[in-house]
Amino acid sequence: MRNQTILISGGGIAGPALAFWLRRFGFAPTVVERARGPRDGGQAVDFRGAALEVTRRMGLYDAIHRARTAMGAVSYVDGLGRHRATLPAEIMSGEVEILRGDLVHILHDATRNDTEYLFGDSIAAMDTGDDGVAVSFASGATRTFDLVVGADGLHSNVRALTFGDESQFSRYLGYHLSIFSVPNFLGLEYTGHFYNVPGKLAGMYSARDNTEARALFYFASPPLGYDHRDDEQQKKILEQRFAGESWEVPRLLKEMRNAPDFYFDSTTQIRLPSYSRGRVALLGDAGYCASTLSGGGSGLAVVGAYVLAGELARARGDHETAFARYESRMRGYVDANMKLAEGAGNWLVPPSGTWIRMRNLNYRLLPYMPWKGLITKTASQAANAIELEDYGP
Ligand SMILES: Cc1cc2nc3c(=O)[nH]c(=O)nc-3n(C[C@H](O)[C@H](O)[C@H](O)COP(=O)(O)OP(=O)(O)OC[C@H]3O[C@@H](n4cnc5c(N)ncnc54)[C@H](O)[C@@H]3O)c2cc1C
Repeated sequence: MRNQTILISGGGIAGPALAFWLRRFGFAPTVVERARGPRDGGQAVDFRGAALEVTRRMGLYDAIHRARTAMGAVSYVDGLGRHRATLPAEIMSGEVEILRGDLVHILHDATRNDTEYLFGDSIAAMDTGDDGVAVSFASGATRTFDLVVGADGLHSNVRALTFGDESQFSRYLGYHLSIFSVPNFLGLEYTGHFYNVPGKLAGMYSARDNTEARALFYFASPPLGYDHRDDEQQKKILEQRFAGESWEVPRLLKEMRNAPDFYFDSTTQIRLPSYSRGRVALLGDAGYCASTLSGGGSGLAVVGAYVLAGELARARGDHETAFARYESRMRGYVDANMKLAEGAGNWLVPPSGTWIRMRNLNYRLLPYMPWKGLITKTASQAANAIELEDYGP
């Protein structure tokens, strides 16, 4: 087997899932993660179709199922908290829904004993030669690996070092979102409340068997310039955008100041002409972020990890063959999930009062409509738009 040592940048979802399969197939992965430990936070993520099948093949389905949110329908409310319409559970939560942070911990636990993790570090520079990639880390250490995989998210460092500036490949979909933990002060039980004004959504839903809750914010805007790593700047943006709004918005913004896991980003897709260059490949959001509006990002990460590791094993480590097959198997599946994001913003964050009323009316009438299964059917088709090979062992 060629190319045994593989450095993975990013210990979120894609990175540990890849490490899992690489170990299974006899490679020696190292994961470098910028955070000091597994990085909690984020909203609940849906698992459907092929991604669920991969978790079964990993033997992690039961752990994921046990940690599922069991979330029911979500209520759209008005400024006084009065119920206006119901967002059905099957649209909101997929086949199995789990908090992103819980998934990160399950994947880390499944790999920590046989994968080298370098927390609190990051790749500073890479120099690709004929026999490997010489890597300098921010900590000052230097090492050479046979291959490098960028699984470091939407603002991937490996992508920037290999392909150049993010702006060439990013497609902004018009919204920013924020999510963070708050106490469950509304006493929500396996449900959530979403409040809209034109171009904005504020929401709260229960988590971890109602012992906690998550606050969720979306707002429409032109692209914003800010530092991706400056939480304080991002919190101020959110406060300004939602200043003066009613419902529970002031309380949620106050709780934001105590939240241990504040997350803020844009709804952006990454569209690259190729998922690899030389000895470097990209995986998950780093290679093909479908955006939070698609609901398929974690599925793409988990399935992509399986296919990338499987193709490397099948090609006995020949990265040129494996990377080409990885890309050809993934493209259609990626494109189908990217499509899910189109138009989704108008439903979640309607642009006008008329849109909000039409959306609510649509959800009220949905149970009686012949097309009631269409939304879940489209999501399910995208989630199954790949045939999973059996790579053994
Ligand atoms: C804290 C957090 C919260 C999130 N919340 C949401 C959410 O609410 N809704 C949503 O749709 N998506 C969210 N996402 C994105 C979502 O997790 C991904 O879309 C999806 O799960 C694909 O996973 P990924 O592993 O490719 O990327 P990610 O889950 O983003 O993981 C990337 C990892 O790379 C690490 N990293 C970044 N830069 C470097 C670097 N230079 N060196 C080393 N490591 C680096 C990050 O710390 C992170 O752990 C969140 C991501 C994070 C990190």
